[in-house]
Amino acid sequence: MKYVYLFHEGNAQMKSLLGGKGANLAEMTNIGLPVPYGMTISTDACRDYYAHGGKLPEGLVEEVMDSLARVEEKVGKRFGDAENPLLLSVRSGAVFSMPGMMDTILNLGLNAVTFPALARLTNNRWFACDTYRRFIQMFSDVVMEIPKEKFEEILQEQKAAQGVTLDQELSVESLENVIARSKELYRREIGKDFPEDVHEQLLLSIEAVFRSWNNHRAIVYRTINKIDHNLGTAVNIQSMAFGNMGNDSGSGVAFTRNPSTGENRLYGEYLVNAQGEDVVAGVRTPNPIAHLAEEMPDIYNQFRDIAEKLEKHYRDMQDIELTIEHGKLYILQTRNGKRTAQAALKIACDMVEEGLITRSEAIMRIDPEHLANVLHRQIDSSASPHVLATGLAASPGAAFGSVVFDADEAEHLGRIGAKVILVRVETTPDDIHGIVQAQGILTSRGGMTSHAAVVTRGMGKPCVCGCESVKVDYGQQCFSVGDTVVKKGDLISIDGTTGRVILGAVPLKDPELSHEYQTILGWADEVRDLQVRANADTPEDAEKSRRFGAEGIGLTRTEHMFMAQERLPYVQKMILAETTEERSAALLPLQIMQENDFYGILKAMNGLPVCIRLLDPPLHEFLPSLEKLLVETTELRVRGDNPELLQEKEHLLAQVQKLHEVNPMLGHRGCRLGITYPEVYEMQMYAIFNAASRLARDGYTPLPEIEIPLTISLAEMAILKERCDRIARECMALHKVEFPYLCGSMIELPRAALLAGEIAEAAEFFSFGTNDLTQTCFGFSRDDAEGKFLPIYINQHIMKDNPFAVLDRKGVGRLMEIAIEEGRKTRPGLMIGICGEHGGDPSSVEFCHQIGLDLVSCSPYRIPIARLAAAQAALKYPRNK
Ligand code: PEP
Ligand code: MG
Repeated sequence: MKYVYLFHEGNAQMKSLLGGKGANLAEMTNIGLPVPYGMTISTDACRDYYAHGGKLPEGLVEEVMDSLARVEEKVGKRFGDAENPLLLSVRSGAVFSMPGMMDTILNLGLNAVTFPALARLTNNRWFACDTYRRFIQMFSDVVMEIPKEKFEEILQEQKAAQGVTLDQELSVESLENVIARSKELYRREIGKDFPEDVHEQLLLSIEAVFRSWNNHRAIVYRTINKIDHNLGTAVNIQSMAFGNMGNDSGSGVAFTRNPSTGENRLYGEYLVNAQGEDVVAGVRTPNPIAHLAEEMPDIYNQFRDIAEKLEKHYRDMQDIELTIEHGKLYILQTRNGKRTAQAALKIACDMVEEGLITRSEAIMRIDPEHLANVLHRQIDSSASPHVLATGLAASPGAAFGSVVFDADEAEHLGRIGAKVILVRVETTPDDIHGIVQAQGILTSRGGMTSHAAVVTRGMGKPCVCGCESVKVDYGQQCFSVGDTVVKKGDLISIDGTTGRVILGAVPLKDPELSHEYQTILGWADEVRDLQVRANADTPEDAEKSRRFGAEGIGLTRTEHMFMAQERLPYVQKMILAETTEERSAALLPLQIMQENDFYGILKAMNGLPVCIRLLDPPLHEFLPSLEKLLVETTELRVRGDNPELLQEKEHLLAQVQKLHEVNPMLGHRGCRLGITYPEVYEMQMYAIFNAASRLARDGYTPLPEIEIPLTISLAEMAILKERCDRIARECMALHKVEFPYLCGSMIELPRAALLAGEIAEAAEFFSFGTNDLTQTCFGFSRDDAEGKFLPIYINQHIMKDNPFAVLDRKGVGRLMEIAIEEGRKTRPGLMIGICGEHGGDPSSVEFCHQIGLDLVSCSPYRIPIARLAAAQAALKYPRNK
């Protein structure tokens, strides 16, 4: 097996073998860009490394040495040479970009022989010293796991001794001191001298990069981003270009378009006399790339041309790393740039206009989940917030929460539901677990490409960074801006769209949707086959969902209407009634209220179908708790001072006990209620058809669909369908109107799916209630599984996803396929949809498209996501029309 590829041997298509970085370095080499030459060790080698229990696979060392000889030849320098030494960088590079999660070693190949040669060759002893001390620190940290703080300490002490504050101000003598003390530290920690053998340095570094695939932060990052843990990383070994050779050198990172807004303008930052790591680490705040046009105009123009070429070549916005060595430009990396959802939409739209990509490609480029971020809330402009400070608007959206200064604490509090803002001087990849749980991030240092900025943009989380007037004091657990001190636990708001940091909580509001958003979703609507509806229970939600593009309502859960405070007493009376007459009397006021509910919803969705589900949950959910009643009656009995109240409570207790169920989710619910208490469903049917009749009379177009929950047989469905038709006729006759309606069944139980052919004899449509169908297919309680064993199952890879979030295609999906086939055999063209939570999940939407559903229904905020996911599914798997 071949493990090592020289840059000219690869290309952009070889991503899975060479990793993203390796494939792009190869591609850039082949299109003639100034890339320092090198080689890539394949991901195969990393997987074999782990397969052999953490040993370099056989033959790898020889291959690396052979390729190294070719690199030496090409560059004209020799590794470990006393005259003209080659120095190398060793970087990780996974198939899917994992920014900053794994390790890098720069300046490799320095020792007692090559170090003086470097100083001599460059005629710059300061540079050689700076390079050497960086190498010792990086190698010790990454390869030998000596905490880098210990080396920072040496550096700080040396700066103090010399009386300077910046690294660049250190004298040659001071740097020599730092090198000597760093080597001493290494000897103390490891019990051996720092390795002089450059080949040993290289092999140890390769192994360290393999190992970094499985460091804590990389695992967390992969888990969040659903990246396969078995892919492994490639290793890129490249000849060094030095950005720290003086004021005619530098390093930078630039995007071909603005990654925050999508604006078509070169965007990025650089530092003079610095190595690449300095720019992204956020240690010194870098200059905007536009300054380079003034500082080094030739380099800037050359870089701008290359950036343009790369964008055209890859037909996507690029994130490019550059280094300038003594006035010569090198490109170290290019990749498709991470961007905010808003930027993604704008870039895709602009690129269609520029003729760079097609509409279909534009649709495929947007991550549907990412769209949720465009719907992110913003600070209500009518508020007059107390703005404490303004930093860089690094990731849009607004959030408020209590201040915390520690990632572990942010994680802990976030997990238990607290809203926190994580405030740091700068974040590092080690903070990832805290960032995930925080509402937003504020940093006092670092630019738009700092770790905090990049990571939060990917997550769609608000971030303000480089806010230098914020002085963080970790010791006192507070930060100050001028005279204002904000302590741990105090409330602040951040606005990642403008960079504002605000004292206290501010009102947030829904965003305006951009022109690009409307355009791309419009294109999506043209290609998708699935209709997208909303799950909405109120006229307000109905209106909102219509604004988001819903083509109807796929599920109105009527029980939510029963829960309102002023209605509960009537509901309880209805449930506790001992005779049919008593029950009917209690139902009358409820019918009036329900009629108004339905009137409002049907009116808001005028002309669009509205699927209303009859009462579903067990009745005892509306009653006082059994435990509470037991306590109350016991207390009353002991006190003995209020026999009337006691009698009343005991009566209530007896009723509640009678209705109590051990397993209510599998109990007296759904259409079992409708069969055993016919008056309840009748009341709802009258309310629906009277409301629709009134609307029809008033000139509206109501399109009600009556849906029966938890059906298990034709017998049930037939009874309820007949009742529905009778009441519909009655109401229409009474109001002298006519309108179309449907009466159908939810398919939420395995038996219903298996007997769908029979049920379809009476049901005029099906809607998969995949929440219950998942619960009953797996035999997992939907209220308990997610909080108990599911996370463990997912961690141990027994299950890939939470089946309540991502539809289980194998099991639940199989039941759906059977139901579709059986149902349509009985009733060709039967309309079938889904209204479980899966209706708003992109992967599940794709499956629904594939198995031939007509519609998906989801909560209002997920509608744009479903529209786009449905379009992507249609492009990926065209239906035979
Ligand atoms: C379902 O079971 O998928 C469904 C939509 O109903 P509910 O979640 O209300 O039980
Ligand atoms: Mg259900």
